[in-house]
Amino acid sequence: MDFDLSDDHRLLRSTVREFAEQEIAPVAEELDRTKAFPYELVKRLGELNLMGIPFPEAVGGAGADTLAYAIVVEELARVDSSVAITLCAHTSLGTQPIYLFGNDEQKRDWLPQLTAGEKLGAFGLTEPEAGSDAGNVQTRAMLDDGDWVINGSKQFITNAGTDISGCVVITAVTDVDANGRKEISNILVPNGTPGYEQGAPYRKMGWNASDTRPLTFTDCRVPGDHMVGPRGAGFKQFLRVLDIGRIGVAAMGVGLAQGALDEALRYAKERKAFGQPISKFQAIQAKLADVATEIAAGRLLTYNAAFLKDQGRDFSLTAAQAKLKTGRLAVRASEEAVQIHGGYGYIEEYPVCRFYRDAKILTIGEGTDEVQQMVIARALGA
Ligand SMILES: Cc1cc2nc3c(=O)[nH]c(=O)nc-3n(C[C@H](O)[C@H](O)[C@H](O)COP(=O)(O)OP(=O)(O)OC[C@H]3O[C@@H](n4cnc5c(N)ncnc54)[C@H](O)[C@@H]3O)c2cc1C
Repeated sequence: MDFDLSDDHRLLRSTVREFAEQEIAPVAEELDRTKAFPYELVKRLGELNLMGIPFPEAVGGAGADTLAYAIVVEELARVDSSVAITLCAHTSLGTQPIYLFGNDEQKRDWLPQLTAGEKLGAFGLTEPEAGSDAGNVQTRAMLDDGDWVINGSKQFITNAGTDISGCVVITAVTDVDANGRKEISNILVPNGTPGYEQGAPYRKMGWNASDTRPLTFTDCRVPGDHMVGPRGAGFKQFLRVLDIGRIGVAAMGVGLAQGALDEALRYAKERKAFGQPISKFQAIQAKLADVATEIAAGRLLTYNAAFLKDQGRDFSLTAAQAKLKTGRLAVRASEEAVQIHGGYGYIEEYPVCRFYRDAKILTIGEGTDEVQQMVIARALGA
């Protein structure tokens, strides 16, 4: 076993860390406070060739592996989760289905602009009646004169409503058999298609600078060849997309926890009480030690999931475990970091306050903790 990162991975990590510290950290608080989408930073991520990390160079990607992707997401989330989720949802959820299942024309039309970061991709799975029960899709797509005519709604969708949003791949019911069984397919809908509308952004607890909206489709007509992959394969496809996405979200948990620990340690060494830095108190040291240990475990699990995927091996169980572990880790680490900051931890000018708000979604999005437990228990044979 080799636990060392390659020179390429280490270089990537230091490059992205420098970028995050120099270009994201100074504006993160303002972006969060003003709930402003980080257009300039997305442009910079594109220039740094980071908006299509795991896709081949032939389609405009960086041609890197999943481990490289996890490292980048981790370094971004260490400083700002809104920027990290924008890249993460764009890559794992938005671009991935087109890369994995799209036809040649869809790949040619969309991948270069998506991987360059000129356009953002989104994935519309969740609906009012289909969250954890993602197969309970209500959105319908009917064939009419060779076109798909879509009616329905999606909710909580990331990246669909920005000025640079290019398209959304949605799940839709394309047929129902005699036994009432739904045929689910994935369909690509470009922004600007008549009948496809993005609602107002949600007022969220965190991820304030990322774009999350409800979507509605009213007699929205796209050509028949906008189906992504074979008809009826939508359920299998989105399970695959979510498996891959969990590695990215797990990396977000590791990064956020690391950022919280870094801030907590820095503060604990500066803040004095009872005549000495609070880092000298055993109660504070125990918190720092526990969180550091949990991060080490969560990072190994996340990198292992990425490694297995890069080896072409089954990674679903490990990705679910990594996502479960690191979501909880992020919540705990940010809570301890707030605690170590005392009253200042509750004040927005300290990043740990934002980290605390940003952490909670990591136990909910991309499959809740309870859904991960179901996936893991199933793999155990329970
Ligand atoms: C900021 C944000 C961004 C998002 N981005 C996207 C996106 O880009 N694309 C997208 O498609 N979706 C997105 N989502 C949706 C997200 O993936 C869902 O919210 C999540 O999967 C949970 O679904 P739900 O909200 O319907 O909760 P529900 O499924 O209603 O769950 C409610 C509670 O019941 C529990 N529960 C449900 N079923 C079971 C069960 N069988 N056993 C035990 N417990 C159960 C859940 O774990 C949860 O605790 C986003 C959500 C947010 C908040």
